Amino acid sequence: MIRFSVSNDTIELESYSDNATLVELAAGLEDFRRTCNLKTTHCRGCGECCGDDIPVLGFDIPRLMEGTSLSIDDLKLSVLTMPEAPDLQSREKAIRELARAHDFSRLNATLLYEYNNSEPVTLARGDDGTCLFLKNKLCTKYDHRPYACGLYLCNMGEKLAFLHEMIVRQGTWHMYSVLGWIPEEAIGHNPFMRASSYTELRVKDFDVDLRSALEALFFYF
Ligand code: SF4
Ligand code: SF4
Repeated sequence: MIRFSVSNDTIELESYSDNATLVELAAGLEDFRRTCNLKTTHCRGCGECCGDDIPVLGFDIPRLMEGTSLSIDDLKLSVLTMPEAPDLQSREKAIRELARAHDFSRLNATLLYEYNNSEPVTLARGDDGTCLFLKNKLCTKYDHRPYACGLYLCNMGEKLAFLHEMIVRQGTWHMYSVLGWIPEEAIGHNPFMRASSYTELRVKDFDVDLRSALEALFFYF
């Protein structure tokens, strides 16, 4: 069970049960937005958010392969925009320094580092600057679109937006592992490593509130 509410013209996550999954979160948000009489109640067709950089996470790859009939290598050539691979030595050094300087646990230092250093693989853009799958303001790959498209709304409340960010950033590090850019053991804490699809990922595993630590570290990154 997942509950949403409306506050200051935004949609906020109110509560969720222990076993609520990421699939239920996106589906629940999609249902709720249609009922609350806000801008996004009838947002089908606006398409403005499809002009943003759309993150593609590890579990999106099989969906995109199925939806486009392309191999992962062909996706890289024509559908995805690839970031630079992370520098693993710098990563390790920064996490150690962060933990030592601020007395954070290794896990919190790692999560903070990953939150601030996660350039995602994104969907390529067409000639008009919007997502290459957007045609006449409609998504031509709706059933195979990346998870981040399905969870996103332009009027999400603070908690929901932060949760979205945590999912995208942890999913980005998992994507690095899928691409062979980081060994699995280096991201053993990542919830994506214990699942094989979005239906096996629980909301509560991403509900780690790093906001106060992030504010304290504003000048670090
Ligand atoms: S969520 Fe996207 S499509 Fe919907 S109203 Fe906002 S910008 Fe437009
Ligand atoms: S995949 Fe579809 S929903 Fe996602 S950005 Fe592209 S057109 Fe928009």
